[in-house]
Amino acid sequence: MVRVVVVGGGVNGVGSALAIQRRHPQCQVKVVAKSFTPHTTGDGAAGLWEPYLSANTPDDKVIQWSRDTFNLYSDWYRDGEGKARGVSLVHGTGLHNIQQPTPAWHTIPIGYINLSSEQRALYGPQYKSGHRFTTYTAEPSKFLPDAAGGGEDARGSPGGAQHLFPGGGGGRCRPFDQLQRPGSA
Ligand SMILES: Cc1cc2nc3c(=O)[nH]c(=O)nc-3n(C[C@H](O)[C@H](O)[C@H](O)COP(=O)(O)OP(=O)(O)OC[C@H]3O[C@@H](n4cnc5c(N)ncnc54)[C@H](O)[C@@H]3O)c2cc1C
Repeated sequence: MVRVVVVGGGVNGVGSALAIQRRHPQCQVKVVAKSFTPHTTGDGAAGLWEPYLSANTPDDKVIQWSRDTFNLYSDWYRDGEGKARGVSLVHGTGLHNIQQPTPAWHTIPIGYINLSSEQRALYGPQYKSGHRFTTYTAEPSKFLPDAAGGGEDARGSPGGAQHLFPGGGGGRCRPFDQLQRPGSA
């Protein structure tokens, strides 16, 4: 049996472990971390969807990953499970005091528009570009416990050692799109 160890029990570690487990169900995937939810960075984050600080990541990767995430939140929102997973729709405006190009991912969120000069002027003369769109927030503190398998085990041992995702698809690891409402069987 192939064994995989993922270091880190935050949203990236748990997400990576689930993705590996989903693609290779015969693997035994183990997450090793000092801390698990509710003691990871994401537990204090708003979870707003907007690609940001992606540095030199190629546009096609940013688009692929951010579209997958947006579609997942959208599915959760539409299937009525959004509230339990901390998913909300939010509408927002972004303003920049230097000219910004339209981002490559602009087709993904709902209703993306660049602000006209008249619309920008409403906020002050210092803004050289701006945009507006509707997106989701998804709170990791709500969906991480279930993503990590549910129950106390998902939070790691009291010493914060490790959490095992059994292989073969019969264990606690479930794909994101099959997650159940926290607290349900
Ligand atoms: C206030 C705030 C608001 C935010 N808002 C947003 C937002 O709206 N939208 C958004 O997309 N992002 C937001 N972020 C960023 C987002 O929360 C983080 O990018 C994300 O949670 C990082 O997840 P991670 O799994 O990479 O890291 P972490 O959650 O920090 O997990 C790191 C893991 O590695 C483990 N670890 C570290 N060192 C060791 C070691 N030596 N040995 C063993 N284990 C170790 C830790 O115990 C932990 O399990 C926000 C962040 C903050 C702080």
